[in-house]
Amino acid sequence: MKFNTKTIHGGQEHDVAYGAIMPPIYQTSTYAQTTPGGHKGYEYSRTHNPTRHALENAFASIENGHFGLAFASGLAAIDAVMKLLNPGDEVISTNDLYGGSFRLFTKIFQNFGIKFHFVDMQKASNIETYININTKLIWVETPTNPMMNIIDIKKVSDISKKHQLMLAVDNTFATPYLQQPLDLGADIVMHSATKYLGGHSDVVMGALVVKDKELADKLYFIQNASGAICGPQDSFLVLRGIKTLHVRMQRHCENGKEVAKFLKTHPKVEKVFWPGFEDHPNHHIAKSQMKDFGGMLSFTTKGNNYREAINVVEKLKLFTLAESLGGVESLCGHPASMTHASIPKAERENTGVVDSLIRLSVGIEDIDDLIADLKQALE
Ligand SMILES: *Cc1c(COP(=O)(O)O)cnc(C)c1O
Repeated sequence: MKFNTKTIHGGQEHDVAYGAIMPPIYQTSTYAQTTPGGHKGYEYSRTHNPTRHALENAFASIENGHFGLAFASGLAAIDAVMKLLNPGDEVISTNDLYGGSFRLFTKIFQNFGIKFHFVDMQKASNIETYININTKLIWVETPTNPMMNIIDIKKVSDISKKHQLMLAVDNTFATPYLQQPLDLGADIVMHSATKYLGGHSDVVMGALVVKDKELADKLYFIQNASGAICGPQDSFLVLRGIKTLHVRMQRHCENGKEVAKFLKTHPKVEKVFWPGFEDHPNHHIAKSQMKDFGGMLSFTTKGNNYREAINVVEKLKLFTLAESLGGVESLCGHPASMTHASIPKAERENTGVVDSLIRLSVGIEDIDDLIADLKQALE
């Protein structure tokens, strides 16, 4: 089955009771038993729920894995991965990381005796310097947020295999439409399904997909034992979202490209960070591991003026000023005052998050309206 068919049919069976095309929302906490242990495969909804199960099968299918797991949020999914580790273990993580992941690693798991190294992985060989006897996991996010750097998943996977480490990839920005980390050698794929997989800004959810049965069993155990599952209604919504992932992504990519090109020639714009440009430092990696370049991009305005950047995001009308990304509607954000406000100015400017940086999640509206909105806001 090709990807554009998997989004609609992958792992899915019609409802056995009445042939419903979409799985019913099994809004139930428990299931009747005829005799102790005499049930139809479902005992309690923390452990199993048919609607969630249908979604988990869809996750596995679109990521070319064998096992999918759905969680209450993207961070709950990452939390489950970290619980595979023990005190004394070390993790090598991308340095330009989603803020919530960084907070979970440094404010929660560090207290439980896990050590994190944050490394610039644009040159994959940088990773090897940090590998020692305690290293267990490499955590990769690509493209990175908000600088849109690209990490070579295959190269990192070669390193992880050489040293018998686990490799997990946060595939939230790219989605399986653009890149499939398990095929490139990753052991675990993670998603904030809140973003493109759900796609309509109406659910918070997380996902994991793996190929290996033993690893899947460990994660299912953690999912059930820790209990950060998602509900059946949300499972239904994300399953519905996935069915249009490929058509949405195609338009996100088309619009993203037009917006990037428009901004690049605008006299008020200093720099545009979009991996589709040939002069992007990791363009060749993006081109080889991604099908297209996505709908996420960032840009800076000339003069690097904090107030001026805030004026632009306030003047944008179709691009709503908001956290999050990946929905059908266009959003904009000002990292220096929003997602990255807690990072000291010098430190954040070091990674490129300067005062005038604006991040866009380009939606699937008509491109003419999006360009017109950017034009009026930049004037
Ligand atoms: C949003 C996001 C997360 C966290 O997911 P939640 O669903 O908000 O918990 C993790 N990684 C990336 C790249 C994200 O964008």
